[in-house]
Amino acid sequence: MGYACYEITRNGERTQAGYEVAATCEKKGCRAAIDRGLAYLCGQTPGGDEHGCGGYFCEKHLTYTNQCDTCGAAADEANTWTHPETGEEFDLRDSFLPFGQRYDGSSLVWHYAGIMRDGSPVLEPVYSSGEKADEPHRLLVEGEWESAAVVMMRQIRQLAS
Ligand SMILES: [Zn+2]
Ligand SMILES: [Zn+2]
Repeated sequence: MGYACYEITRNGERTQAGYEVAATCEKKGCRAAIDRGLAYLCGQTPGGDEHGCGGYFCEKHLTYTNQCDTCGAAADEANTWTHPETGEEFDLRDSFLPFGQRYDGSSLVWHYAGIMRDGSPVLEPVYSSGEKADEPHRLLVEGEWESAAVVMMRQIRQLAS
């Protein structure tokens, strides 16, 4: 089976997909000519998955995470956690650093472990290599955290100035 043309099940119906299958962007009102290749797919699996609806959208209507506006907004909302005391919003897909800590290539960063404890997301320490560190998990409500990407951007800007 190649990627040019194949059959998928979408919303309970068999249909054709693949980069040789011509299509129109499925965003309401958009007439952009696209194809049903993976590049235009919302989500990661033809037919839809937990990342997206399986619709096909033009570059303008697909986010950088390959999701349509609707699925992107739903994912943003599902991954946003608001600190009950400070009101600060966290995107749980980010990597975090304790506030004030510099980032370097060998730093530990903290990832959402996918579980909640005492009403707070649990963070697990991970090396930049992706390997898990043998250190206790921490809660996002304990202490202050910054997005590692924000810290990195600030350091780059400081270097440049
Ligand atoms: Zn979608
Ligand atoms: Zn479009």
